[in-house]
Amino acid sequence: MSSPISKTAFIKAEQCLKHFYLYKNHPYLRDSLSRDKQFIFKRGTDVGIFAQQLFPNGIDVTLSEKRDQVLFAQKTIDLIASGVSTIYEATFIYNDLLVMVDVLHKHEDKWIAYEVKSSLKITDTYVKDACFQYYVIKNCLPNLFDFNLLTLNPNYILTGELEIKKLFKTTSVMKDAIKNSDYFAHKSQIAKLTLEQGKIPDIKIGTHCFQPYECDFLGTCWKDSKETNSVLTLGKLTKQEIFDLYDQNIKRITDIDINTIASKEIKIQVKASIEQKEQFDVSEISAFTSNIKQPACSLDIEVWMPAIPYYEGTKPFQQIPFLFSMIYEENNEIKNYSYFKPIEEDLRKEFLEKILFVTKDFQSILMYDKSLEETVLNQLAVLYPEYLKDINNFKSKIIDLAEPIKKGNYYHPDMKGNFTLKSIAPLVNQEAGFNSLDIQSGISAMYIYESLLIQNAIEGEHIKQQLIEYCEMDALITYQLLNFFQSKLS
Ligand code: SF4
Repeated sequence: MSSPISKTAFIKAEQCLKHFYLYKNHPYLRDSLSRDKQFIFKRGTDVGIFAQQLFPNGIDVTLSEKRDQVLFAQKTIDLIASGVSTIYEATFIYNDLLVMVDVLHKHEDKWIAYEVKSSLKITDTYVKDACFQYYVIKNCLPNLFDFNLLTLNPNYILTGELEIKKLFKTTSVMKDAIKNSDYFAHKSQIAKLTLEQGKIPDIKIGTHCFQPYECDFLGTCWKDSKETNSVLTLGKLTKQEIFDLYDQNIKRITDIDINTIASKEIKIQVKASIEQKEQFDVSEISAFTSNIKQPACSLDIEVWMPAIPYYEGTKPFQQIPFLFSMIYEENNEIKNYSYFKPIEEDLRKEFLEKILFVTKDFQSILMYDKSLEETVLNQLAVLYPEYLKDINNFKSKIIDLAEPIKKGNYYHPDMKGNFTLKSIAPLVNQEAGFNSLDIQSGISAMYIYESLLIQNAIEGEHIKQQLIEYCEMDALITYQLLNFFQSKLS
């Protein structure tokens, strides 16, 4: 066998043997990693490194010039033999299966493994991964006494100095791990046989392409989805419902009998595909826009959710608003206003006061999918009850422009089943758009904001401008969406 099967590869085999085979033999076919995913992976690594402080003075086996996992495994064996009691990224190979564990710590002659998850809760997938790690490590290190998952404690509130022991929650997966040993022996055998067969397994696409993780080879297997009117691009259906159609050989949206569809949101997509033109429910949109009072502004808020609480009184992953942008019209000119909270200080009160102040004269506040903004406002109302009345007044003025779109009152075939602001932006404003921006999603915005903790002033200012541009674009497209609707009504 060329190289051992890592945990990452094994997880892929569990999901789909074709995924596993492509990953091992044709990695160049992998889809490029989105920026959002890169940030999420980086956060996982950062939290893992942070958790090492729970077990100080350990030795990291990966701190070597060569990125060679077989070498790491040898180094781990040597460190254990030499009496070291804490090893970071301890690496083990058993029967051509390779795992690394974040921390291996010896407590009173018993080894305990810890795998860190940048998450508030334990999922079945985490447990399964940990059981696989246990299976390999136990076979290399019979003296392994326990295997724990370390997750972030949702009830931890930062008060004064960060208390790392309270920040993490420890959960043993030993019972599951012992129960599942035979399962991993069997499954790893199937994975090895798949490689030995030397040909790509013939596996059709299905709901498994997204469970438990989105596959890295969608670009290779999901070519059908790129074809015009592919049923795979139908929005507002579960993946299972889409595959129920696909497996009945209904490959095009236009193959669906429109008379059999009850849901308006699906019907509008089918109709748009058949007619190849946008669908616009004049009476519904007209009724919706009649609720908008002038003067109106549009508004978008960006939040930061640090895994490790940064401000006094906050919890892991608490949503911290750091930026809002507002678009409005004055003397027939589009104007914008943005407030940016520096990362060093917890200025949530100032943020709240500013947002209430600049919006107070507007009768309607336009948003696109208000759920995040409402959550932020509700949290601020709890934190600063003296502003409750003003916050409620603000909330009563919100008009969510996503509503008529989600209800199927507007649809364009170019949206390809996607009902987000980003999919509507090119229809609303062909010149401006998210594609030209450095930051193109709220997730990227959040992680880029976090990077301000380590940037110098010049880079920091550049990042601030990029974030404002992104937030302003969200608010601008939202504002223009109303004009877009109104122009169709006139
Ligand atoms: S896209 Fe689906 S079928 Fe193709 S390799 Fe991935 S999981 Fe398997």
